[in-house]
Amino acid sequence: MPEDDLRFETPMFRQYCEVKAKLAPGTLLLFRLGDFYEMFDDDAKISSNLLGLTLTTRNGRPMAGIPFHALNSYMRRLLKAGRRVALCDQMEDARPGKLVKRELTRVYSPGTVISDEHLQAAHNQYLLALTAEGCPTLKSGATNVPSLRDLSSAPSAQGARGEAPDITPPPEGGVGGGRKEMLSASWMDLSTGEWSAASSTDRDGFLNFLTLLQPAELIVPEENFPAGIKERLIENLPDLAVSELPNSFFEPVGAKRILCEALNVGTLKGFGLSDDKTGDHPSVGAAAALYCYAKQALCGAPANLKELKLYTFEDRLMIDPNTARQLELFKDLSGGKDGSLLKAMDSTVTSAGARLLERVMLSPSRDVKTLQMRYATVGALKEDAEGLKDLRESLSCLRDLERILSRLQNRMRSPRELAATRDTLRALPDLKQALEKISGENGRPLAPSASEGENDTGLRPATPSAEGEQNKSVLSWITTEISLHETLRQKLGAALEEEPGNDLTTGGYIRPGYDAELDRLKSLSANHKIWIAELERLEQERTGIKSLKVKYNQNFGFFIEVTKANLARVPADYIRKSTTVSGERYLTEALQERQKEILSAESNAIRREMELFETLVAEIVAESDALRRTASALAWCDLMSAFAYNAVKWNYCQPQVSSDQNLEIIGGRHPVVEQALARIENAAEKFVPNDTRMSAQNEQILLITGPNMAGKSTYIRQVALIVLMAQIGSWVPATSAKIGLVDRIFSRIGSSDALARGESTFMVEMTETAYILRSATEQSLIILDEIGRGTSTYDGLSIAWACVEFLHSHPSAGPRTLFATHYHELTRLEKTCPRLRNYTVSVKEWGGKIIFARTVVPGAADRSYGIHVAQLAGLPAVVIDRATKLLEGLEAQAKAPKSKGEKVAAGQGELFG
Ligand code: ADP
Ligand code: MG
Repeated sequence: MPEDDLRFETPMFRQYCEVKAKLAPGTLLLFRLGDFYEMFDDDAKISSNLLGLTLTTRNGRPMAGIPFHALNSYMRRLLKAGRRVALCDQMEDARPGKLVKRELTRVYSPGTVISDEHLQAAHNQYLLALTAEGCPTLKSGATNVPSLRDLSSAPSAQGARGEAPDITPPPEGGVGGGRKEMLSASWMDLSTGEWSAASSTDRDGFLNFLTLLQPAELIVPEENFPAGIKERLIENLPDLAVSELPNSFFEPVGAKRILCEALNVGTLKGFGLSDDKTGDHPSVGAAAALYCYAKQALCGAPANLKELKLYTFEDRLMIDPNTARQLELFKDLSGGKDGSLLKAMDSTVTSAGARLLERVMLSPSRDVKTLQMRYATVGALKEDAEGLKDLRESLSCLRDLERILSRLQNRMRSPRELAATRDTLRALPDLKQALEKISGENGRPLAPSASEGENDTGLRPATPSAEGEQNKSVLSWITTEISLHETLRQKLGAALEEEPGNDLTTGGYIRPGYDAELDRLKSLSANHKIWIAELERLEQERTGIKSLKVKYNQNFGFFIEVTKANLARVPADYIRKSTTVSGERYLTEALQERQKEILSAESNAIRREMELFETLVAEIVAESDALRRTASALAWCDLMSAFAYNAVKWNYCQPQVSSDQNLEIIGGRHPVVEQALARIENAAEKFVPNDTRMSAQNEQILLITGPNMAGKSTYIRQVALIVLMAQIGSWVPATSAKIGLVDRIFSRIGSSDALARGESTFMVEMTETAYILRSATEQSLIILDEIGRGTSTYDGLSIAWACVEFLHSHPSAGPRTLFATHYHELTRLEKTCPRLRNYTVSVKEWGGKIIFARTVVPGAADRSYGIHVAQLAGLPAVVIDRATKLLEGLEAQAKAPKSKGEKVAAGQGELFG
């Protein structure tokens, strides 16, 4: 405490300083004083700035406050600004002359919020911890749990500071830039209880994956943490709040003990995080740091973290943030959701289902069995239209059980959440019946389950290796995992009012007839009310004052009110209490007596209600493991039903997947553009399907030429999207699709559209292209759209040319590549690259105009039709005429024998020829 604080040495201020001293520097402290949360000193200055509050001073000390009932909206803004905020509440009612007991009740931060008002229903809110090999200080025997004080720095939205993005291409030597340093991460969504850990030496791939998780908050060790990692995450996630914590937080020796305690186990072996031969998994330090951070945020041990999943990257399709952005997987290019694949695929009807969809899109599979199992499930659901409709109707009645449970388990409870749990349980019998009907009536054998590949995607048998589980389909897995929770449902049904309020302390949420004691207490206070009414009548009679009233208010309780005109008739036994403008207020001894009884009956009734409430919560919490399994199965049920719904609605086909490197899509469509066109009523165009045939060994590179606006970009993207959809287990927009599973999808789009990001676009384009060329394997799929457009024609053409040659350079196979370009010169590459095929999006000329047929056919575009497109766009006729003349002139010149002055160009011509 600074010395000058002594000037304000009051007991209350001492209390404030004690609480403040427990907090990590940089944490804002909201200190409850009556009806306000007050902030002092720097906290007051910072928050008055952020929230636009009036800054006052008390005894020369800056101070700012917010009304307690407006906490949520202010908190949202503080969290959005990336701040960590501690709440110190009054633990008892204020009494004059006595210091109120106050305690720290919660530390809010962007990655640890669990109440709905701070969360997005369809999106997981992740807190991420990162460590690098060699960075934790391995003090032997140092097993202390770090204290809150150890949180040495405030989180801050560092991206907002605009640090220069690290666009340095990785040095030669493949992915990870040759660095074989191990990175470890752990991430959790405290609001759902999901918790994972992973390690990798592929730094780029790992960071790409973590970026796509879109964590809200990151914690890293403050010392010896390699440069560039944090920055890379911030570059892509401008709102990320970052805290640097003392290395002791990440310390592996203590970590193991912390995790064992947290998970209530003696060893981490069961979670795959410890091994007799290799010792502890490198990610335990990060996982323990997360746990401690969450514990401090909740001011108590998180009770909803029951499982720590080891995430592995084998058998996955990896995507990087650039590819995700360019293929508009999660967001469209404008930053909204509307034009994204996620939106086009999201027919889920529950929040948990929507979150699961996003998660599976983040980690598509490469495991044939897992995928076949999902396709079969979608197929079974799709075939029973009636059943699917019933099922989705039941699903839509569900509430967000995962998140409700997490709050109930962590001491955030309200009668309304209990009612939501009840409503969810009520929907289960119908839902299960619909499910059983579908799997029963549809009795065809479903594909076997994959072995361990699908475990951490959630399709987890009760015991991962149990023999009997091996041959169960997803649908029967879902059906078995969903318990009906009969007893609990009945209990909640009997106990709770249909639509209880949100406030625990006002009572009125327990049904009459549920508890005899509560009913007795309530009838007591009801009787009292009758007595009061009776009293009014009797006193009117006794005094002859017709206007005499027995009233109640918060300050006085019950009293008798007599108007001025009647004061003379007031009997002697009335005790005068106070005077108002219109009359006087009185008490009688009997009324005072009764008053006490009434108040105690009411508060006894409320206390009883709260007791009953706590018992109900305890019963839900006691069943939370089973409820969680139900919730997880329900999310899968929703996702599979959504896939089935899409398959019916958009006429998707079941893909055939294999581990070869071929690709054959017949009648493929772009899922997003198709839907967009369908939404336009009387659209001039319907989506025109196209075929695609590729293989790493034969037709490796498809070079697509054609005029602007013909549909090249749409075509190459649709191939990538179809592959991605297939690899998350969805059916796909095509008549048939054979897909040799892909290990990575890369996409690079020519620079012009990156201008908005304000970077040296050509540099970025080349950096990303370099990354693709270095990282792609024979299993990969590459989408290149107008590469080289960001520089002058000859430069650009040369670069594009060289890239194609490089991708084709392996003698027998290479990454399947779709290359759309307006450089029709590139089509000459077909002569030297045997695995390259020329395709063009056909157009017809009709009376000097062009008509887009949208059909992709073998062959090359002979010219770019730029002038036709300009004409379509409405350029004035004079300009079009002049351009046509100029073009004729240039083309004639190009065909004429070359003069000396054109040597450079001629040289380039040879290069391409
Ligand atoms: P390019 O890359 O050749 O300039 P785009 O792929 O951007 O062309 O397509 C231009 C427009 O044509 C798109 O906005 C889309 O609406 C429409 N389009 C593309 N492909 C098709 C198709 N197969 N069927 C119908 N419309 C299409
Ligand atoms: Mg294009």
